[in-house]
Amino acid sequence: MKILLIIADGLGDRPFESLGWKTPLEAAHKPNLNTLAKEGMIGLIDPIKPGIIPGSDTSHLNYLGYDPFKYYTGRGPFEAMGTGLTLRGGDVAFRANFATVDEKGVVIDRRAGRIREGTPELSKPLNMKIEDVEILFKEGTEHRAALVLRGQGITTNVTDNDPHAENLRPKEIVATSNDGKKTARILNEFYNRSLDILKSQRVNADRKKAGLKEANAILYRGGGVVPALPNFSDRHSMSGGYIAGVALVAGICKLIGLKDFTPKGVTGSTDTNVLGKFSAAVQALEEVDFVLVNVKGTDVAGHDGNGIVKKEFIEKIDKVLGETIMKIRSDILICFTGDHSTPASVKEHTSDPVPILLHYPGCRRDGVGEFDEIKAKDGYLRLRGSDLMNVLLSSANRSEKYGA
Ligand code: ZN
Ligand code: ZN
Repeated sequence: MKILLIIADGLGDRPFESLGWKTPLEAAHKPNLNTLAKEGMIGLIDPIKPGIIPGSDTSHLNYLGYDPFKYYTGRGPFEAMGTGLTLRGGDVAFRANFATVDEKGVVIDRRAGRIREGTPELSKPLNMKIEDVEILFKEGTEHRAALVLRGQGITTNVTDNDPHAENLRPKEIVATSNDGKKTARILNEFYNRSLDILKSQRVNADRKKAGLKEANAILYRGGGVVPALPNFSDRHSMSGGYIAGVALVAGICKLIGLKDFTPKGVTGSTDTNVLGKFSAAVQALEEVDFVLVNVKGTDVAGHDGNGIVKKEFIEKIDKVLGETIMKIRSDILICFTGDHSTPASVKEHTSDPVPILLHYPGCRRDGVGEFDEIKAKDGYLRLRGSDLMNVLLSSANRSEKYGA
């Protein structure tokens, strides 16, 4: 049986005041998810383990069968992969933002007005060599980008330049141990050079004219060494693909050798093309055994503190499910869940367990006909993220007996 894993990023939530103290999932009109629940089983999953607040990266790794406590080396390498950069083991990758600084060099917008256009042009001249170190710089979605250092003696033992707040200056990067001195020197030099380069770009002249914030500085943080991950197909004895608009998730999938089926024009936001993604998933399942689809809008709305937009995005997912996945549900295994909770009342990830739904031909029915955080307690499932791949593989008749 083929496996479709749909991850609504940050799906889990808490009761929200303007939804009459219901969670967005609880308040949403979701006939298709409820049908899947009725025909299948639901419950809760702790993406990492109880009380650990997951990142999207650590959670996706865990779900896909890669223990994050063993393989996770920081968000930087994973996001860098997702931008399309081809990285090598030992490269050191940082997460970067286009930002806006004023004439005095003070950060006035850490995201350069969430710039969406012109970042490829801005990124290109930021690829350079400093001393004997190669600098790779590539734009991601919106203001996000990846900064990669490749060369001898590069380490992660340095501080960030990102002040993590506005109205502060970017911080000088310093080594946190002796072997970080070269890396700190190069990163500081890169900051100074990038200021000059970005200032003279046409994209910024145009933004200024249009009254938009210039993308005239680069902030970076969270350096990590690119790890070597075992290939997904070898590990689980099946071929796999992914559909993800967000660089971080795409990066993980790419690193483990999943094939990219992401259609053009997906943004990883609430305006993303959900229909395009789910249609691509149906197509991909013709070709490979396992497909992961990540839709990010739920997480974005959670971070924005907008429970109503989150509810509406869940409704959009449900509607598109009806137009696509529901039509093939008697042939495949469907798992619908989130990678963590992003309650709109908290605006950040929390460790609250996430509702999960499992549906496949002939599966047990737990008799719960509605899919949400509260009804989940009446369902069968109670999992940890590290169980997920085992449960999916065995349910799809893809694993071997343990014992005689
Ligand atoms: Zn996430
Ligand atoms: Zn998030």
